[in-house]
Amino acid sequence: MVSRRNALKNLALLGGSLALGPSVLVGQERSAYKIVIKNGRVFHQGRLEPLTVGIEASNRLKVSPREMEAPVVIDASGLIVSPGFVDILADNAGSPQSTYLTFEKYKLTDGATTVLQMHGGAASPAQFHQQFDSRPHYVNYGVGVFVMVLRNQYAALATRYQLTEKGLAEGGLGVCHSIEYQPTPYAELKEYAKIAAKYERPFFLHLRHSSPVKEIEGVKEAIQLAQDTGARVHIDHLHSTGGTHDMPKALELIQNANLTGAEITICVYPYSYWATYLISKRFDPGWQERFGLSYEDLTIVGTGEKLNAQTFQAYRQKHGVLVAVPPGTMPMEKTVNLALQTDFCMIGSDGGIEREARANNHPRGRAVLPRRCATE
Ligand SMILES: [Zn+2]
Repeated sequence: MVSRRNALKNLALLGGSLALGPSVLVGQERSAYKIVIKNGRVFHQGRLEPLTVGIEASNRLKVSPREMEAPVVIDASGLIVSPGFVDILADNAGSPQSTYLTFEKYKLTDGATTVLQMHGGAASPAQFHQQFDSRPHYVNYGVGVFVMVLRNQYAALATRYQLTEKGLAEGGLGVCHSIEYQPTPYAELKEYAKIAAKYERPFFLHLRHSSPVKEIEGVKEAIQLAQDTGARVHIDHLHSTGGTHDMPKALELIQNANLTGAEITICVYPYSYWATYLISKRFDPGWQERFGLSYEDLTIVGTGEKLNAQTFQAYRQKHGVLVAVPPGTMPMEKTVNLALQTDFCMIGSDGGIEREARANNHPRGRAVLPRRCATE
């Protein structure tokens, strides 16, 4: 037996090593391993197989149906042994200086060894790295350029564009914007997309609409953006914003655009309901009609309190009150499962755990990636 702590350490090591695909060997016996993981199932050649994983001193890996020996043997009975996952849509924007280790710890225990904040990110990736690179970390990490923050800070378009470009030049992984939360003219979006294209980085977009009537307009806008600028557009959590009510149509539009030269990807999280802050624009007047929901459908995450018209108004004045809608609001078979059958869909958690004591977090803040494996 190994302690959970050591197992995590070893699995993190394994994740990092397995990510180096070419160093994985199958079927050739070698003698000296420092760690062996036995009795687990490994995703190999398109399916889960019972294989032993050996890690050599150089971190080179071998997988084999045969037994191997090592000073450290991890029994993975009943478990899947996997390379470290990449969470492309993690979120730790609240107060990362004080919460990042909690956030990273939960990501690591989900099996994620690379955690990218691409829904928001940082207004200045250079400053982010100055603050965080000298600190200890559990995972690989990175951020996109947080356009919403730049727009709040600077009124002049030229300054916004200049700082977006600076952010990419200084290591931002992409440009990130959320136009449902912060409606933005198409002409301005196009400039951000052009900058992303110039630096060959993706433009991550939370679409403009989520109502049954308008959601497809939002998908078309993202496609237009990709076609007008050549940017690689990534649509955040399509099942909650853009493809909630007509996922087949949304997927068909994207597929057709990709077949004619666009490079559009999407992600989903494997939950049938969404959650967001009550103060956000998603709950602006008309939300009941937009989402087909009532006050009683809203639950405060962490306390389980159900809202009514009075408490809705009271909590909406406060920052940081996260509410969830009922399970089944986005039926898996009509949304997430369809999206995952395409070759342009990934899993993104769209969340993160920032505080343990006050668990006001959507469940997608942790367990998203293993939950997806569990449903395989
Ligand atoms: Zn979003």
